[in-house]
Amino acid sequence: MQVRNGIAVSPGVAVGPALVLGSENFRIPRKYVAQDAVEVEVARFRNALDQVCQEIEENESLVADKLGSQYAAIFSAHLQMARDPKLTGEVERLIRERSFSPEYAVSRYLRQHAEQLQNLGNPYLAERALDIFDLEKRLLQRLLGESREELSNLTAPVIILAHDLTPGETARLNTDFVQGFATESGGHTSHTAILAGALGIPAVVGLGRCLAGVSGGQTVILDGDHGQVLIDPDEASLENFRTSEAQNLKIRERLQSLEDVQADTQDGVHIHIYGNIEFPSEVEQCIKRGAEGIGLYRTEFLYLGGNAEPTEDDHYQAYCRVIEACGNRPVVIRTMDIGADKVPKQLKDRFDGNQNPMLGLRSIRLSLQNTSLFRIQLRAILRAAAKGNVQIMFPLVASLLEFRQAKMILMDVMEDLEDEGVEYCSDLPVGMMVEVPSAVILAEEFAREVDFFSIGTNDLIQYTLAVDRSDPAVASLYRAGDPSILRLIRTVVEAAARHDRPVTVCGQMSSDVRFVPLLVGLGLRHLSATPQSLPRLKEVIRNISIPEAERIAEHACSLDLARDVEHYLLGELGRLCPDLIV
Ligand code: PEP
Ligand code: MG
Repeated sequence: MQVRNGIAVSPGVAVGPALVLGSENFRIPRKYVAQDAVEVEVARFRNALDQVCQEIEENESLVADKLGSQYAAIFSAHLQMARDPKLTGEVERLIRERSFSPEYAVSRYLRQHAEQLQNLGNPYLAERALDIFDLEKRLLQRLLGESREELSNLTAPVIILAHDLTPGETARLNTDFVQGFATESGGHTSHTAILAGALGIPAVVGLGRCLAGVSGGQTVILDGDHGQVLIDPDEASLENFRTSEAQNLKIRERLQSLEDVQADTQDGVHIHIYGNIEFPSEVEQCIKRGAEGIGLYRTEFLYLGGNAEPTEDDHYQAYCRVIEACGNRPVVIRTMDIGADKVPKQLKDRFDGNQNPMLGLRSIRLSLQNTSLFRIQLRAILRAAAKGNVQIMFPLVASLLEFRQAKMILMDVMEDLEDEGVEYCSDLPVGMMVEVPSAVILAEEFAREVDFFSIGTNDLIQYTLAVDRSDPAVASLYRAGDPSILRLIRTVVEAAARHDRPVTVCGQMSSDVRFVPLLVGLGLRHLSATPQSLPRLKEVIRNISIPEAERIAEHACSLDLARDVEHYLLGELGRLCPDLIV
């Protein structure tokens, strides 16, 4: 049994066979071949190997001509590996004696070698493992052909293990079969992690390099509560899994009973709770669990889910679905937050080569540079807003100028619709996300111009602490409990109160029940969270009074280390709601 630890990002435990995806998302099947087809399969492997060797030789001479022989030497090393008689001998033995398919045999043999190199503790040799992966990729490309098996073509339950999954790939996962996933990369609030929550499947990210030795079909226990992945679990671990399944079922049943109750504190103050969604289909789950509306609709997933750019009508239909499912409840539609880790296939060219995407062309910046794209979305929002209770929100606003420019374009689009005689809503509230420290520093000035604020703690933490939210190498530095974050939230709440502007927290911090007493104690009365977390939020709110929350917030704000704040809040949660501590 191998035990791997990562970051728990979506709760629940799943057990099933692994589907290992290489860095290029090849599906590596654990297929056996019929005994009478063995020689044909061996020939297929030899043929693929010949083609790969030829390809490497071509690359070698191309690079030698262009850059010189010292660079071409990289390919000589690849060629040496590809021509190693041990590779041919061992792969052919696996096909002949164990009836493995060539794909599986290649993958198994090369991955075992890569893992050995990675485990030698020598950084130079560990790097060489990448060459082995490269050879594996080339061979699989030849063996499987150019067409990669689509993740959506699954026919049996699997647990996906991958180096990385983009938000687009995650959005397309078929949850009828994908029981959960774990990735080597990714951080606490990477969009892939957030999507796992939206899809309601357990997930662990940031495992670090560890999948080299794992083969498709091996049994995996994926523990999304504790961030652990067990590969080839022993009988005792499987038994533990069955017991915790039974306990989880009990917790789920208890939380279900909270679906219809109000989020009122013990002293009768109502806290408004809303759902965060990425897809229209999630509204139902939010309403069922007691959301009073949608506090954050991440519309960029319209671009990430499909292959073509959405038309005005695609936008309109999606928004109408959400609005209709919400009845008269408010829906905060956030304009597209494309860029960073959310790059649709059809816009990939614009982002290629960007070394620092979190600080690059993203979100409102992209909208303001591509006004034709932006206007299409604004038209659809304004038209749909005529059918319900809609608010519009601009993401990642860093300066007053950006907010004003976005609002001006919105007004301009309204004029167009007016001229065309198209039905639209002209008086919808226009707000902004507070995700950049500059927006907090200028909160007072922004408060005079916006109708509402929504604090996006995921990005606010990233940009305040200068920690990439998707990078597991710095995951331990990404801390919602950092005293600077608490102070920034307080600043926004105070500025909003002075101007009588509503303020919500819609980042993952409000879905993490540890932080709920703190947020309420800091003065927040609106929280927008993932659909799964809503019953837990209610449980905490119903177990606390405002003076108690204020005492907790005051004490938390007096501490000077993130780890002390988080430790203190966990202790308070354990006291208030012991059942919520997993
Ligand atoms: C945030 O940054 O907190 C937020 C809600 O936006 P996203 O996670 O989509 O970047
Ligand atoms: Mg954000």
